[in-house]
Amino acid sequence: MTVIKAESAGFCFGVNRAVNMVKELLAENTKVCTLGPIIHNMEMVEELRQKGCRPVDSIDDAQPGETLVIRSHGVPKSVTDALDQGGIPYRDATCPFVKKIHRIVADTDPERDVVLIAGNRSHPEVMGIIGNCSCACMTFNNEAELDQILPNILLQKNKQVIIVAQTTFDTKEWKKSVKKIKKLCTNAKIFDTICNATSVRQSEAEAIAARSDFMIVIGDRHSSNTNKLFEICKKQCPQTVLIETADELDVSRLRRAVNIGVTAGASTPARIIKEVLDTMSEEIKSGETTNLEESFEELLEESLENKRALFPYPSFRAIRP
Ligand code: SF4
Repeated sequence: MTVIKAESAGFCFGVNRAVNMVKELLAENTKVCTLGPIIHNMEMVEELRQKGCRPVDSIDDAQPGETLVIRSHGVPKSVTDALDQGGIPYRDATCPFVKKIHRIVADTDPERDVVLIAGNRSHPEVMGIIGNCSCACMTFNNEAELDQILPNILLQKNKQVIIVAQTTFDTKEWKKSVKKIKKLCTNAKIFDTICNATSVRQSEAEAIAARSDFMIVIGDRHSSNTNKLFEICKKQCPQTVLIETADELDVSRLRRAVNIGVTAGASTPARIIKEVLDTMSEEIKSGETTNLEESFEELLEESLENKRALFPYPSFRAIRP
């Protein structure tokens, strides 16, 4: 049995930066609240809550004396404007890669431009991008949705089409969409804003899943990038499971597998990945003993039925721990 863990599993640069920002504030004894959970991992959010950092739903919930932290997804411009106007102290942990998209869509002409965002419009990152856009914008989540919106845009002559992507957008879906846009809209300005960490994580997970007969994706079920990883792996390896913690791992499935792959979403803490690997390691070790015992029992039974002494007992003892 072999176990391959993706090197790209776990916190990405942007999530690490945001979590460290909160930890640094807590270390300075600053009271902290985050606008929404700082990452899509409830274990980590709970850990930070114990240390005095609470998630809030709105900037109006920030208490006097608290510093509000904007998470890596970023926020609409109206939110930072309201924080500035209300004199609410805050730190901005928006990932620099997301900030770059904000700059692209903010630097647009309301009369001339239309922005197309490849992404899920109900995801906070996309809501933040929409809220920084200076011109009209539309979203699409796949090629079929692009087919629905593109004809209307093409009817509006003299419009400059600008395309950006949610940083965690599926790279294959993006390539298909770009191909279509280039064909139908020759002057479109296309910005590939998919985060490199995401594409590396997705390609590595896909390659590992393709050679695995059991694939484990570790991450929070509310995390967009974890769910995408799960979908990508499932296409390559039907025996793919998504677990949030080591407790959810059905260890009996490990024993039936020959090649096991492991990856984790961008907001999965290293501690949880280690716990899963430790659980697997213990189970695989005990499974090796059990399998040997089972095969011996099966062979012994078979040999007795056939009235033949097939399996020499001394060598069985030699392989027992
Ligand atoms: S996935 Fe990429 S864009 Fe998103 S927070 Fe991580 S580093 Fe930033």
